Amino acid sequence: MEELSRSVSELKQTFNTGRTRDVEWRKAQLKGIIKLLDENELQIFQALERDLGKHPVEAYRDEIGVIKKSARFTLSSIDKWVAPTKKQVPLLFYPSKGVVMPEPLGIVLIFSSWNFPFTLSLDPLIGAVSAGNTVVLKPSELAAECSAFLSKTIPLYLDCKAIKIIEGGVEVAEKLLQQKWDKIFYTGNARVARIVMSAASKHLTPVTLELGGKCPAIFGSLSDGDMKVAIKRIASGKWGPCSGQACVGIDYILVEHQHASKLIDLLKKTIKKFYGENMGSLKNLCKIVNKHHFNRLHNLLEDPAVAASIVYGGSLDEQNLFIEPTILLDPPVDAVIMVEEIFGPFLPIITLDDIHESIEFINSREKPLTIYAFTKDESFKKQILAETSSGSVTFNDTFVLNACDNLPFGGVGESGFGRYHGKYSFDTFSHEKAVLERTFYFELEGRHPPWNDFKLQFIRLAYNYDYFGLVLLLLGLKRKFT
Ligand code: NAD
Repeated sequence: MEELSRSVSELKQTFNTGRTRDVEWRKAQLKGIIKLLDENELQIFQALERDLGKHPVEAYRDEIGVIKKSARFTLSSIDKWVAPTKKQVPLLFYPSKGVVMPEPLGIVLIFSSWNFPFTLSLDPLIGAVSAGNTVVLKPSELAAECSAFLSKTIPLYLDCKAIKIIEGGVEVAEKLLQQKWDKIFYTGNARVARIVMSAASKHLTPVTLELGGKCPAIFGSLSDGDMKVAIKRIASGKWGPCSGQACVGIDYILVEHQHASKLIDLLKKTIKKFYGENMGSLKNLCKIVNKHHFNRLHNLLEDPAVAASIVYGGSLDEQNLFIEPTILLDPPVDAVIMVEEIFGPFLPIITLDDIHESIEFINSREKPLTIYAFTKDESFKKQILAETSSGSVTFNDTFVLNACDNLPFGGVGESGFGRYHGKYSFDTFSHEKAVLERTFYFELEGRHPPWNDFKLQFIRLAYNYDYFGLVLLLLGLKRKFT
């Protein structure tokens, strides 16, 4: 505990020197992150392979490439982001100047999760340093190799007096939460998010909570050609990122009865092509992170009604923590697999009489992090956007939105709050300070007591008709109100 307090006070001292406010310092950290990724690609591949069995292509796509892209984007935009933005001031208060000036929050705490151990650590870090903060990053203990790598390597590339990596599990997390932070950025499950929020409330610390939930995919009617593309995107979006252990992974699909068998046939063929035929020869898939999560997933299939709904896959290899891509057709909607976030390679398909019923189905559950919808029907798209609520919506693809620097990423309701990526990250870790500067040229005496009916009338006009502010100013000039 003492060591933690020492680290926090060192970060405070660093922040108070003003060093991290310097834009050149921020740029140096961003360049450091890019350099770290460039010079350690092989070690990162190895750490991800050991923790999660992640293939280098997946590792590069979802962890190295996407972070380099994000750091480069931030580097090229930061001069613009740090500059004060001029804002119009009502005529009533002319002459004056209004600006919004971003300032760093101070010392921030980042908790990351294990499924994308580099991305979920480094992307918030990019936001925090670009905004000029000092940082404690606690990577997830469940991806132990990646956590150890980050703790060993980050100090070699970044300013270790301003950015500290603290490794550890729940005990360390709890101690960190006892400290006073200027911001806590948490990625993980909603149960722990409640602990984080309650600890933050003691110090009125603002939090960003990046959580998960059950992300549905609505599968409308498509032409054969479009359907083939959609199935590829679903198969690689469901099992591609971390074998379904992804907050934005498709949790279940909603489809009309009439299209279900074709959807399942195509999915089976695509799984075989992408990942292999049988358990012994499966490739390009991550393992389940640990025994606890393996057992959790195993238990989902233990329900006899759920087991009876398996139409593809269902094999589990406990020794290697490996689970086959598995499709289920109409498991009971009140079974645990349809109530809790799956976070694994099971894909329930729920059939409906009419695809428009999907809206009600989604709305009867917690607000998801994202909704996927495969459809070309414009009025249905509008209906989905207007009648559902989710962190984001992607039409006709799966998880590519995460790599779009200009789109905010974050949840709503039970899937979290706050957002990041690109400029949104910078804003998340900044305070937008409003600055108003007035002159001493005029004084509008009508704003000062003693009050009379005349002043009431003029103030009423001033607030209801902006141009009237000008008239008031002129009158104010002549000091007619006193
Ligand atoms: P996890 O177990 O790695 O926990 C996340 C962080 O919380 C870790 O740093 C961990 O040490 C810390 N933690 C755990 N218990 C704690 C406690 N009692 N007090 C304080 N801190 C504690 O990850 P997880 O929660 O298993 O991650 C999976 C969940 O996260 C899923 O719900 C998933 O959808 C969500 N997730 C969301 C995103 C996103 O970007 N929205 C990304 C990844 C995962």
